[in-house]
Amino acid sequence: MSNRIIPMKLVVLGEGGVGKSALSCQFIRNHFISEYDPTIENSFREQKTIDGQAYMLEIVDTAGQDEYNAMRDRYIRLGEGARFRLYLFLTSLGFVLVYSITSRVSFEKLDAFHSSIQRVREDDVYPVVLVANKSDLEADREVTTSEGISYSKKVKAAFFETSAKLRMNVDESFMQLVREVVKMKSTE
Ligand code: GDP
Ligand code: MG
Repeated sequence: MSNRIIPMKLVVLGEGGVGKSALSCQFIRNHFISEYDPTIENSFREQKTIDGQAYMLEIVDTAGQDEYNAMRDRYIRLGEGARFRLYLFLTSLGFVLVYSITSRVSFEKLDAFHSSIQRVREDDVYPVVLVANKSDLEADREVTTSEGISYSKKVKAAFFETSAKLRMNVDESFMQLVREVVKMKSTE
């Protein structure tokens, strides 16, 4: 533990409509967004204390992959890697990979999002949490829990079934990611 506030950027990725904005907003603002605006790209900044350590969390809620790609390209352009590496050193990155249990398509698109994470810097491995959202819509389920678990093992990610609507496993997912970012930093 340290007295300093640790900055951390958590990027939320996944197909449109799976609940990225709803999850981010629930985690930071304790509020469920029931309307769907696919174009909203939020960046939430909030100080949170987890396991007694203060963090300045920036939640990058992407729409499409545009914002995330822009961010990545911006830092890559900053020059021959040195500044990008400095940025990565100063700001820890973690990823929340989201699909909806009610959308097989969103599950099948996970690979594309996952490989975009590996492209940040090829030799780096980033902590990922796999989130199967909309677990309150059991009647509309298209992806089984065991399929989710298998995929999480494949990409070496922790796995949570969540409901942004019921605020179920939302804190647990983000907090697990924070813990894994810290763990990865400490073994660098
Ligand atoms: P995004 O495109 O991934 O950011 O998706 P949104 O967060 O905008 O959510 C898309 C729609 O699904 C919205 O109408 C949300 O209210 C709804 N939604 C998000 N999460 C849940 C959930 O856990 N359960 C239910 N029933 N609806 C959800
Ligand atoms: Mg959104």
